[in-house]
Amino acid sequence: MNIIFLGPPGAGKGTQAKILVEKYGIPQISTGDMLREHVAKGTELGMKAKEYMEKGQLVPDEIILSMVKERLSQDDAQKGFILDGFPRTVAQAEALDKLLEEMGKKIEYVLALIVPDEELVTRLTGRRTCKNCGMMYHIKFKPPKVEGKCDACGGELYQRADDNEETVRNRLKVYHEQTAPLIEYYKKKGVLFEVDGNKSIEEITQQLINILEKK
Ligand code: AMP
Repeated sequence: MNIIFLGPPGAGKGTQAKILVEKYGIPQISTGDMLREHVAKGTELGMKAKEYMEKGQLVPDEIILSMVKERLSQDDAQKGFILDGFPRTVAQAEALDKLLEEMGKKIEYVLALIVPDEELVTRLTGRRTCKNCGMMYHIKFKPPKVEGKCDACGGELYQRADDNEETVRNRLKVYHEQTAPLIEYYKKKGVLFEVDGNKSIEEITQQLINILEKK
């Protein structure tokens, strides 16, 4: 299964991708996670990307595309993959089509999660993540049992540098201007499936499974 998760920041792409990874045994490829790893390690790529990420702007295509190309060629991505946070522009989508064609593959499902902007701001500004295992929390909707500590592993919870209100509003603007046109792009290709993302995690997962298993 070759899947793309499309949707604004905070729509639940990462959360749902992690659930589908467990269910179908294919990897989640998150360009945001890959970039954050580079930033944390202080690589040259990470240092270039950091300034864009902190402002909520898109990192230049050449950086993103070389990273994705390398990741898609790895063994674990050969029987399928879930792209999360990529492509984010029509230019990236066209480059992905070309890359997949060279590899003899194509996208089968574009799962678009639809959520209103004000809900996204609330979700993102309250979001916390475990430094150790990546488990996600929300200060209001899914608080940890002990403040600042992960229920699963006891790791320390942190707030992403770009989850403050000002940067969130900019990320949403960038989404509407540059990423939302991909809905039309994939609709024309006949692979777009829109899902109501303003529901519980479990309800959204069920909608996704219904699509992927054509129920
Ligand atoms: P995310 O974790 O997907 O919300 O991404 C966090 C940040 O990483 C974004 O706000 C961008 O600055 C950068 N980023 C992630 N994926 C891409 C992409 N496909 N193209 C450009 N920038 C990206």
